[in-house]
Amino acid sequence: MKQKTALITGITGQDGAYLSKILLSFNYKVYGLTRGASSESLNGLKYLGISDEVTLIPCDLLDISQLIKIIQQTSPTEIYNLAAQSSVSLSFQQPIGTFQFNTLSVFNLLEAIKLIDPSIRFYQASSSEMYGRVNNLPITESSVLHPLSPYAISKAAAHFTCIHYRESYNLHINCGILFNHESFLRQSSFFVKKVIQESISISRGKSKVLKVGNIDVCRDFGYAPKYVEAMYLMLQKDQPADYLICSGKTISLREIIYYIFNQLNIPQHCCQIDSKLYRPAEIENMFGDNTKAKLDLGWKYDLSMYQTLDLLLAEELRNFSL
Ligand code: NAP
Repeated sequence: MKQKTALITGITGQDGAYLSKILLSFNYKVYGLTRGASSESLNGLKYLGISDEVTLIPCDLLDISQLIKIIQQTSPTEIYNLAAQSSVSLSFQQPIGTFQFNTLSVFNLLEAIKLIDPSIRFYQASSSEMYGRVNNLPITESSVLHPLSPYAISKAAAHFTCIHYRESYNLHINCGILFNHESFLRQSSFFVKKVIQESISISRGKSKVLKVGNIDVCRDFGYAPKYVEAMYLMLQKDQPADYLICSGKTISLREIIYYIFNQLNIPQHCCQIDSKLYRPAEIENMFGDNTKAKLDLGWKYDLSMYQTLDLLLAEELRNFSL
């Protein structure tokens, strides 16, 4: 049997690290594409103790000639495309760069697969942000897309590119439409990680306030190490498809802050609203229906948001006190 070989873009990110760990546990040969791989950007792989087990290859995903060479040399059976400018906030400041990278990289990968080996199975990291202004909740795989940020527009364009290549060229392309998912490896600028890190600082007397934007919006959050399992499961199915990966529940950002504050005995007045942190457009509430992923993929998820916050806080505290 052909050795299962995975090529992962965005391997230095949160999901890339957790996904690598899963694939290695199934004896995959794992190649990770990076845009340079400074030692700092490998912290996720090092934290999980797998930095020596993945082979890193520098690659500019906007240069299809490099991609073609790498795919020919590594002969992957599966490609997981996780690389993206992934911050909604940053996309308002860098709309064109975000759109350019998040869409052209996908076109290049799919063209390369079509040219070299159409049997390669492909995973695209789509996002719940694509749904934006939703009229009906919960969101399902057939809800209408109405993106509200340059990031969401770029992900929607990439998503339709994937559908086009799947339908036109019969490629095994799967889009995981993931809702927010968190872990210790999340970048510090993202909301839940920022709240936990800054709350610990306040509780240790190292800072006084947590500044936030609009916290009366609600989101469907989950635990990243469990969400990446669904990526692997999608590529094991013979029929490609798109799946919502979410917890199915919703919680306001205010509730998250007060829960963490409560766990750390921080008074609520330490949370300050800063209107400069408001976004030009904001999704008010969203949560999804994960029935299809549970039934078709056998994906299991039953953590509540509070259980997830407990896990995240405990891991952050363990590492904070090192
Ligand atoms: P992340 O931690 O921000 O990682 C993003 C990865 O993309 C990093 O490896 C980063 O490399 C790479 N990257 C960014 N810009 C690049 C560029 N111009 N050229 C090459 N590589 C570039 O993201 P994540 O949380 O793991 O998410 C993985 C994917 O899922 C992303 O596509 C994201 O948009 C999508 N997604 C995430 C969530 C979520 O809640 N986490 C939800 C829905 C969808 P460097 O280390 O070099 O910066």
